[in-house]
Amino acid sequence: MTAVPSRRRFDELTDPEIAAALARSPRVILPMGSIEQHGPHLPTGTDFFAATSIALAVADHLDALVLPVCPLGVTPMHMPFPGTVSLRPQTLQDVVADIGASVAGHGCTEFVILNWHEGNIPSLALAAEHLHRDLGLAVVVVQACYVAEERYGPQAGGLTHGGKIEAWSVLSCRPDLVHLDRAAGSGDRRQGELVDRLRRDRAFQPVLTDVRTMSPAGWYGDPAGATEQEAREFVAGLGAEIADRLIGVLDALAQVQPGPAQAQARGAQARGAQARGAQRGASARAPGLPA
Ligand SMILES: [Zn+2]
Repeated sequence: MTAVPSRRRFDELTDPEIAAALARSPRVILPMGSIEQHGPHLPTGTDFFAATSIALAVADHLDALVLPVCPLGVTPMHMPFPGTVSLRPQTLQDVVADIGASVAGHGCTEFVILNWHEGNIPSLALAAEHLHRDLGLAVVVVQACYVAEERYGPQAGGLTHGGKIEAWSVLSCRPDLVHLDRAAGSGDRRQGELVDRLRRDRAFQPVLTDVRTMSPAGWYGDPAGATEQEAREFVAGLGAEIADRLIGVLDALAQVQPGPAQAQARGAQARGAQARGAQRGASARAPGLPA
């Protein structure tokens, strides 16, 4: 069977097609996920399947290209389980900065990072700051998992690790990897919700080291009964909502802060001032003393 190629996937287009797409619309989306255990019923790549399918749903509304997903994330909490591979925060920050710099060099001016994994959030914030301040990209990081929670949480039993929202995310694109018949042994819901409340609080932010504090089994929730039809509606609905809100954010950004060229000039000015400050500092020090 020949799959129909998506006209949005960067890795499936030719070089001239990429050039034409960027000339028509300078928007690029980077989906971000993780490789981590998701219980006995969902694949370790659940987060990157979620990020990819939602990014593709968003891209149609935005006329944007979708980069190949960055599948690995920062996930030390899940390392007690063998189905987990984690990056260090600095590594992820560097990878995202390099990806953004590459597409900026080819004409991208609006860079959207669509993230499904909470452990990536600090690294993405730092990489986004760099891409905006130093390279002049308009950057928006979308925590797609939280938009999913807002819109679908009430009907899906919340955003839980291994629950229905995550089952839908994989069912929408790879139903062969979802094993709902094996979804036994969910952790206690009250315990899981307590830990999720702790780690998602906006004002008080404790550090949690081990996902087994949330559930000894590593997951909780109720994915039973999730269907492919619901999954397709979930991805299409979420994609439309994210696109709609994202367009609003990009428009508002364009109004309140300068475009890429001006931001770049401002970044260069700031770097020049920094360099002059460093020179003055060096000449004020006695020769031979370390900085
Ligand atoms: Zn997940």
